[in-house]
Amino acid sequence: MKEVVVLGAGYAGLKTVVLLQKKLKTNVHITLVDRNNYHYEATDLHEAAAGTQSASRITYPISDVINPQITFIQDEVVKIDPDKKTVKLAGHEELLHYDYCVLGLGFVSETFGIPGAEENALPMTNVKEALAIYDHIIAKMKDYRTTHNPDDLQIVICGGGFTGIELAGALVDARASYAKIAGVSPDEIKITLIEASTRLLPMFSEKLAEYGVNLVKSLNVQLLDGSRISKIEPGKVIYKHGDDDEESLNAGTIIWTTGVSGNPLMEECGFDAKRGRVIVTDHLTDPKHDDIYIIGDVAAVMPPDGKRPYPTTAQIALAMADYTAEDIVSRIKTGKHEAKSFTYKSLGTVASVGNTRAFGEAMGHELRGYPASAMKKIIADRSLLETGGLKELFAKGRFDLYH
Ligand code: NAD
Repeated sequence: MKEVVVLGAGYAGLKTVVLLQKKLKTNVHITLVDRNNYHYEATDLHEAAAGTQSASRITYPISDVINPQITFIQDEVVKIDPDKKTVKLAGHEELLHYDYCVLGLGFVSETFGIPGAEENALPMTNVKEALAIYDHIIAKMKDYRTTHNPDDLQIVICGGGFTGIELAGALVDARASYAKIAGVSPDEIKITLIEASTRLLPMFSEKLAEYGVNLVKSLNVQLLDGSRISKIEPGKVIYKHGDDDEESLNAGTIIWTTGVSGNPLMEECGFDAKRGRVIVTDHLTDPKHDDIYIIGDVAAVMPPDGKRPYPTTAQIALAMADYTAEDIVSRIKTGKHEAKSFTYKSLGTVASVGNTRAFGEAMGHELRGYPASAMKKIIADRSLLETGGLKELFAKGRFDLYH
C-alpha cells in the first residue's frame, strides 16, 4: 500500500486528490491536510471582500468532494522533512509518513518589506481576510454617520495588478450599498487605485490593457499610476510619483494587492525556493526529491523559452493537478514517470470589472464587454466543475450569463 500525502486543498491539491481517488481504487491510501475544512475559489475573493458574494458562495466543504476512504485532517502543516519523508502537523503528535507527497500550500500576501504595510493595510489572500475587509468597510461607513470625516468613505487599493483591478470593479458594484449605510450619495464613496507602473496589466496587449484601464476609470475609480507606495501609516498611504516629492492619501480602508508569493514554509523547510516558489522538474517534482510534487502557487514552471516562469493562476494550478495525478498513478502502477513531461498552454485570461463587465483574451481572441463577462463566468464554472463536480457547479456556479 502506497501512502500519498497531499498538503493543501486549494485548486492544485484538492483536484489532485479528486483525480487520484477516481484513477486509483486500490494499493493506495491518500491523506489530505488543510487548515480549513472547506475549499475556496481564490479567484473570487475580491467579491467576498466587497460583499457582492457571500463567503458560502465561494466555498464548499472538502467532505463534499472526497471519498470516505480518504483521510482528511484539518490541521496546520508545520514541517516537511524530505529526508525522513515525514510531515509534522501543529495539532497532531504523530508524524505523517509518505511515499509521495504533494505540496499545494498556496500563496501569501507579499509586502516587499514596505514599512507599515503588514500592520496598516488589509491583505486579501484567503476567506478570513476577505471577510475582514468587508467588515472593515462596513464599520467605516457606519463611523461616517457620526464622524462626517470623508476619509471614512475613501477606499484605497494598493497595487493595480489583476487582483487590484478586479477588486476595484467589485467595489464599484457595491458602492451604492456602502453609500446607503453611510447616508451619502454613491459618488461620495471614493475608490482609488495606486499603482507603481504606468503600463498596467502587462499580460494583455497595450490596446486591451488601455481598454481595461479606461473601463475602470469610467466607473469613477481614481487611478494614480506611476505612483510607488513607500510606506503605510495608520489611515494613510504614502507614495511617490516619479521624481516628485512624496505625497499621501488618507483612507479609512487600505487594501493590499501588490502581489503574492508562495507559502513561506517552502523556505523554512529548506526547499530551494525564491519568494516561496521552487523551480520544479519536468514532472513537477522537487529537483532534489523526486517523491515530492510541488504544484500551484508554490511552484515555478519554466516555459520552453526558459525566460520567466509562467504566472501563477488557478488555471495553471488545475493543469498541474491533472499532470501530478497522472504521474503518481503511472509511478504506482509501473514504477516509472509519465513518458511525457508537463506542458502548459493557457486557454486565456479574463479580468472582471464587477459582475457584468470584463475584458481579456481567450483562445487567441481579445474579448471586451458582454462576451468577456460571459466568458469569465464560463471559466469560473469550468473550474468549479473540474474539482467540485456537478453538485458544486449547480450550487455555486454562475448562470447569470444574460445581462
Ligand atoms: P501582480 O503582481 O500581478 O500585481 C501587483 C501590482 O502591484 C503590479 O501592477 C505592481 O506594479 C504593483 N505594485 C507592486 N508594488 C507596488 C508599490 N510599492 N506601489 C504601487 N504599486 C505596486 O499581483 P496580483 O494582482 O496579486 O496577481 C498575482 C497573480 O495572480 C498574477 O500572476 C495574476 O495574473 C494572477 N491572478 C489571476 C487572476 C485571474 O486569472 N482571474 C486573478 C487575480 C490574480
